[in-house]
Amino acid sequence: MILLDGKKTASEIRGELKTEISKLVEQGKNIPGLVAILVGENPASEIYVRSKAKDCEEIGMRSKVEKLPSDTSETRLLDLVKQYNEDKNFHGILVQLPLPKHIDEEKIIEAISPKKDVDGFHPISIGNLVIGKDTFVSCTPAGIHELLMRYKIETKGRHVVVVGRSNIVGKPIANIMLQKKDGANSVVTICHSAAKDISDYTRQADILIAAIGSPKFIKKDMVKEGVVVVDVGINRIEDKSSSKGYKIVGDVDFDEVASKCSYITPVPGGVGLMTRAMLLKNTFKAYKIYESLKG
Ligand code: NAP
Repeated sequence: MILLDGKKTASEIRGELKTEISKLVEQGKNIPGLVAILVGENPASEIYVRSKAKDCEEIGMRSKVEKLPSDTSETRLLDLVKQYNEDKNFHGILVQLPLPKHIDEEKIIEAISPKKDVDGFHPISIGNLVIGKDTFVSCTPAGIHELLMRYKIETKGRHVVVVGRSNIVGKPIANIMLQKKDGANSVVTICHSAAKDISDYTRQADILIAAIGSPKFIKKDMVKEGVVVVDVGINRIEDKSSSKGYKIVGDVDFDEVASKCSYITPVPGGVGLMTRAMLLKNTFKAYKIYESLKG
């Protein structure tokens, strides 16, 4: 069994981007920039945004956090997004979700320029992914795909089974693996909570991608020998031995399943760190697009 090491791979990606950005600095060029817009006081969102800003800083990318009060109006937020759509120093715009209830999230996402949509949530980005055009892909599925490619996992003609059909993980990763392209070209099955017995599907998987949100849900008897397992789940479970009183586990029962796998992602240290790295990569891509259109 080989670990698909998200920590190591994410660090390699940050290193590559850091080198690219230092070349831009040496040449006296503008550098890529990411703005994160945070509305309200959600502690989890504040941690996410802080870690994204820290990642930018580490690789020399420009970053800014726009922190707005929870009573910010939808119009004010729309105006701010429009302002950054025009800003030549910020090539990626991220609006941290969830937003307060009085703000229509879809309206805000649709206001972000598709050229700066580094979260890949804009309907144009999603549509482009489905029809196989180069686009921004949301960071978690993009990170899964990058991990599979960097470990040179054979995907062509292999059966990828995705458990979970969310718009941010299940559906986009299924669409990526379906593309008639190198690093994809798989036969894809998506299953969800309406499946009578998901083992019928998971046991057929050459590559199993679990994005369920249920701790240790995938057990040994649900996978076949030699499977590649990508565990997207991030679940908190009680752990009295830890000073925090909890620990993070995935959707796969790692201790049971790992011995049957050819490759498996750990949790933590797998997909989560890749997600963060792909936000940087998407921002660099947005910068390149901006520079190429600038003329
Ligand atoms: P979600 O929106 O809640 O979707 C979960 C999916 O799993 C749904 O499609 C649901 O089916 C399906 N499901 C739930 N119970 C099931 C069961 N018993 N059998 C079969 N399917 C079942 O969750 P998500 O946003 O995709 O996230 C999934 C997990 O990944 C969570 O633990 C989340 O924290 C984690 N996550 C991690 C990252 C990262 O960076 N590593 C990023 C995003 C999410 P229905 O559609 O029928 O309800």
